[in-house]
Amino acid sequence: MNFANGNSGMNEVHARAKQLIDQHHVEGLSEQERAWLDAHLRDCGECSTVAESTENALRTLRSNAIPFPSGLASRTQFRVRLRAQQLEERAPRRLAIWAIAGVSWALGIATAPYVWQLFAWAGERLHVPKLAWELGFGLWWLIPALIAGAILLAESPRQKFSEGKQRG
Ligand SMILES: [Zn+2]
Repeated sequence: MNFANGNSGMNEVHARAKQLIDQHHVEGLSEQERAWLDAHLRDCGECSTVAESTENALRTLRSNAIPFPSGLASRTQFRVRLRAQQLEERAPRRLAIWAIAGVSWALGIATAPYVWQLFAWAGERLHVPKLAWELGFGLWWLIPALIAGAILLAESPRQKFSEGKQRG
């Protein structure tokens, strides 16, 4: 490890300490890292406050009756803080949603002539003004967009999406 004898500015040292504080809760530290962190926390009020508040936040999380294992809770929380990992996890789900939206639009386009004829026929039959059934046709086109929007809004609670069935 080269951070012990690095003197490339204190900001880097504090950033390192904060990273180790998080790491300590997620995957644990090596003896060497632990010793370094302990030594730094003894000297640095700022970082020891961070360590304390992290500890307290996790304790509160664990003591509250959260319906999933506390280990998972802290792990999830730190995952969210690691932006790169977060983006990696979200990317495939996004892709699935856009694929569904795309299929939905494609279906809309494919069925458009029939739907248009159906609306025209129904409009003539029921003596509906042309503007009214044209409006209805427009609404038909809006439906896939609305569904895609609803899926996007419900994206986060529906984690099953990315684990969904795969076609073979
Ligand atoms: Zn510090």
